[in-house]
Amino acid sequence: MIKMIAIDLDGTLLNEENQVSKENLEAIKYAQTHGIEVVIATGRAHFDVQEIFKHTNIKPWIIAANGATIYQPNGERFHAQSINKQVALDILSWLEEEAFYYEVFSDHAIVTPQNGRELLTIEMDRAASANPELSVNELKRALEKQYSQFGFSFIESYTDLLDTDMGFYNILAFSFDEAKLSKGWAKFEGTQDLTIVKSAKHNFELEHKNASKGIALNILANKLKVNIDETAAVGDSFNDLSMLKIAGKSAAMGNAQQEIKDCCHEVTLSNKENGVAHFIYSLTKEVKK
Ligand code: CA
Repeated sequence: MIKMIAIDLDGTLLNEENQVSKENLEAIKYAQTHGIEVVIATGRAHFDVQEIFKHTNIKPWIIAANGATIYQPNGERFHAQSINKQVALDILSWLEEEAFYYEVFSDHAIVTPQNGRELLTIEMDRAASANPELSVNELKRALEKQYSQFGFSFIESYTDLLDTDMGFYNILAFSFDEAKLSKGWAKFEGTQDLTIVKSAKHNFELEHKNASKGIALNILANKLKVNIDETAAVGDSFNDLSMLKIAGKSAAMGNAQQEIKDCCHEVTLSNKENGVAHFIYSLTKEVKK
């Protein structure tokens, strides 16, 4: 019997307009009234997630920043695992040298350099002119999604953070230049103290090695005295694999890549077709048996 469900946001619970559909909201309420604890598990920052749910009457547990933080339904922090400050500053220094757009997910803000958006506009124009077959609309949508997050705070450079005591929960690097992304991935892959994951086509994200959606799901299941076999998870991307692999029941979205689908117990409908609601109702059917 499933007692807890972890739901990814982008490409999963959110539709193409970056919204939670009425059908998905109803399914979440249905799950809650059937004794299933609903957990949002996302790469986004917790305050961004709280903003998304502000106008609903749903107050979920939130696994944010790819598992680096966990927040209670009442908004209080339950768990945090920050990247060591010096390690984080070294990462940011390298990203700036390489002219990467980046975001640091911290306690109260998404910290990002002033000139980042300019960098991405230049990259987008370059990518579009180098490859006329690229859909410029797809690139623009990726940018809009990135900028639609809540809680940005702008800095001149990472050196503005030298004296800060903020947490460095998640560092996201974004680029339309595939060679640049590969270089970044190669630079940080295998770094002893870090986890590196990909949540979308044009990015990679870094967290402390003890932070992932899967580790966070396990921590939360222990806290709520739910056996890991009684958990379910649904997602669409590589940063979901850690939770999809440990959950008792896993579903890949219909819009997920094949590699993700291959790791899951089942494939549900796409995010345009309320795949999350479809998965929730399939779980509660089993509850009734
Ligand atoms: Ca996703």
